[in-house]
Amino acid sequence: MSMQGAVRTTCPYCGVGCGVLARKTDEGTVEIKGDPEHPANFGRLCSKGSALGETFAADDRVLTPAIDGRNVGWAQALDIVADRFSAVIAEHGPDAVAFYASGQLLTEDYYVANKLMKGFIGSGNIDTNSRLCMASTVAGHKRAFGSDTVPGCYEDLEVADLVVLVGSNFAWCHPVLFQRLLAAKEKRGTKLFVIDPRQTATTEAADLHLAVRAGSDVSLFNGLLSYMSIKGVLDDAFIAAHTEGFEAALLSAQALDVAGISKETGLDVSCLLQFYQAFSATEKVVTVYSQGVNQSSAGTDKVNAIINCHLATGRIGREGMGPFSITGQPNAMGGREVGGLANQLAAHLSIENPQHRDLVQRFWQAPNITQKPGLKAVDLFDAVGRGDIKALWVMATNPAASMPNAHAVTEALKKCPFVVLSDVTGTTKTAALADVLLPATGWGEKDGTVTNSERRISRQRAFMTAEGEARPDWWIVSQVAERMGFSGFDYKNSADIFREHAALSSMQNEQTRDFDLSGLTGLSDESYESLTPVQWPVLKSRAVGEKRMFGDRKFFTDSGKAQFVSVSQNAPMSQISVQYPLILNTGRIRDQWHMMTRTGKSARLFSHIAEPFIELHPADAAAFGISTADLVTVRSRLGAIIVRASVTDRQEKGTAFVPMHWSAPFSSCADVDTLVGSNVDPISGQPELKITAVSAERRKTGWYAFLVSSRRPTLTDFPYWSLARAKSGWRAELAGDDVPRSAQRFFQNLINSSENQDESFVSFSNGMCEGSAAFFRSGRFEGAVYFSRKPVDVARGWVADQLGSTVSTATRFRLLAGRAGGDVPDKGAIVCSCFDVGANQIRQAACAGAWSVDQIGTSLNAGTNCGSCRSEIGRIIAAVQVKEAV
Ligand code: SF4
Repeated sequence: MSMQGAVRTTCPYCGVGCGVLARKTDEGTVEIKGDPEHPANFGRLCSKGSALGETFAADDRVLTPAIDGRNVGWAQALDIVADRFSAVIAEHGPDAVAFYASGQLLTEDYYVANKLMKGFIGSGNIDTNSRLCMASTVAGHKRAFGSDTVPGCYEDLEVADLVVLVGSNFAWCHPVLFQRLLAAKEKRGTKLFVIDPRQTATTEAADLHLAVRAGSDVSLFNGLLSYMSIKGVLDDAFIAAHTEGFEAALLSAQALDVAGISKETGLDVSCLLQFYQAFSATEKVVTVYSQGVNQSSAGTDKVNAIINCHLATGRIGREGMGPFSITGQPNAMGGREVGGLANQLAAHLSIENPQHRDLVQRFWQAPNITQKPGLKAVDLFDAVGRGDIKALWVMATNPAASMPNAHAVTEALKKCPFVVLSDVTGTTKTAALADVLLPATGWGEKDGTVTNSERRISRQRAFMTAEGEARPDWWIVSQVAERMGFSGFDYKNSADIFREHAALSSMQNEQTRDFDLSGLTGLSDESYESLTPVQWPVLKSRAVGEKRMFGDRKFFTDSGKAQFVSVSQNAPMSQISVQYPLILNTGRIRDQWHMMTRTGKSARLFSHIAEPFIELHPADAAAFGISTADLVTVRSRLGAIIVRASVTDRQEKGTAFVPMHWSAPFSSCADVDTLVGSNVDPISGQPELKITAVSAERRKTGWYAFLVSSRRPTLTDFPYWSLARAKSGWRAELAGDDVPRSAQRFFQNLINSSENQDESFVSFSNGMCEGSAAFFRSGRFEGAVYFSRKPVDVARGWVADQLGSTVSTATRFRLLAGRAGGDVPDKGAIVCSCFDVGANQIRQAACAGAWSVDQIGTSLNAGTNCGSCRSEIGRIIAAVQVKEAV
């Protein structure tokens, strides 16, 4: 694909922060390619990044400001926001208002919002959905290093001899970095150990999978520290010269012997020893950790348990070694840099430090600098629910669906006297509860910077004009600030804000603080425009940035020494009971992002998994009378959801997994955050999203149905439904209690159609609630419905792919049957979404002798682009091989 005239920008999804070349064509479509010059991805993109061009449908956009559902002009909307916030502050004080922001914001947006709240309104009450993502890492870094510093870089994963992944389905959640790791593994034989309670696409590539009991990572790493001490492999000179607190940390670590750790973690002693021996014997070790560590009520201790092991061996700040946190969101790091968390000031400065407060106040000429940290996300919404927060501004996120205890958050938002939402999407649960909706620019329209997981600042550039009246978030916040009577917000563009942000980071710094952009303070608008990706700190004397931190053995603590932290607590399992016997884990799937507001616009990204599901171990499923494809009511103490059963021995017995992505408008009742409680880590305030006690019960249902339609169906009347895009329309799963009498009438009602002369139906019913109807208009296939008393078994992908096509009489009847017929291969469920290759095709190729993933790639192309599907292809080949052997 020629990308002449393309704009260099950055992917808006995960924390890998891949560079993207994007171009809007004359036909109005958007072309996307990986940027070969970006050092995060060198041209690679995963399935989500590759499909970015398919996510621009504007049907759900907020296009104009609105007050109570009435469209108004910008001036009126900004006035009311400024007036209502000012009135609440005047009457109840600054802590009666709050902002809840997002890792989707650009650094410049975040900077201005934080400045307004912490410097001018005078409250710390700005928190962000990044609290749900990596707050425990921030807290763990600060305890160990005195600063929120990521020590290493992506290249370390490629030059390490052992990479330990903890609590991360890297293959699906950070696919491009995983592919870099696999390429290095192939080239130089890197060992890969994965610590995760689940079997995932990542564990399939591992040399050793430690299926640790959920929440017990502190014991696992304490055991490692103790083991290495016994074996005499610690770096005593490094410990003595550059650290403090070792003895106390070791004492805590020695609380359990290997047998005790085995009991605590559920791992065999031999498995533990294999890990401990390999870690001890390998100098170049990187420990990569993600949400399984962070999203825990013991998250900060887990982080420090990992860091302790690296400090004790001096394996930090050197090539190919170190603890490495990988963030979930595209700009979680940028938010951390500008004080997007309630307990931070801007530029990694501390609210609790009076000199830091003074510095920021002078720099901003701020009238009312906050004197104390604000409320962290869970506490913030509790305060909204209590009525303590009377005006709330939500920016670029959907807390009514994505916060734990989401029902309570929804109720809190309903009660809040004044809720503002600035966002791209107007169909979220939160949008329905907002008094004022403000249209914000989306990816492709925004202009600013983001920071990825290796401290690399990249430009996100606009390549299309904004839809409707959408404006940048920084502009919206600045306008409100000025209307509230504050000066210092007259920015003319995002470059202005970046220069100020860089200048603050360098003020009185002299390398006493980690975050320093002094080398970027003098950027002109032109040089900001052409800024190439760079890793902070960017000093005047080293404008190329820094790959690694702490190579000089100096840390940002008062003593300049790194701190060991005594840790002993695992995440508690006390919620598990006879009534709620399963441990529910939540997380991402390969092809979706958060609440699907963007990825949900791509049919390709639904072709891998199109419906919310629960993974259950066969023994648990049998005990609860559940079979694959049944609907399941999953219940916790806080609520219930309905999802499809996926019974698999890849799930540990006694545990379950439900993805985080489904809520309205894609499903009737699958929002997993309505089940999850608001139990938080006591230090970081990050909620526990990996351990929730639940029950699972087969949901009895009168009928099941599968539907495809070129028109969006109306589904809200059914007890269960889930909706997904198809190439030329929609596909949906449905279930209900009262048996439909006529498939044709049923279908017509769903799409609000009445038969006319251009329309024709073929239908079938066996009178036993088994039926189908296929619908055509002017010879083209318009839709079909299949219903049954049992879960519907048709060739879903094939049927959905026929939408909009002109079909022969024979195909009409095949559509009615929901089967492609022997002469037309049914691809099966799509595995490789880049090349649209299905499971059946891979099975056929394997039967024909393609016995490796590479051979499948040669014959079908599958797995040769982003690589996200390679482990799944491997699993299909293995299953075929087993079958052939039997
Ligand atoms: Fe985007 Fe995929 Fe790269 Fe993450 S790995 S930044 S989702 S292209």
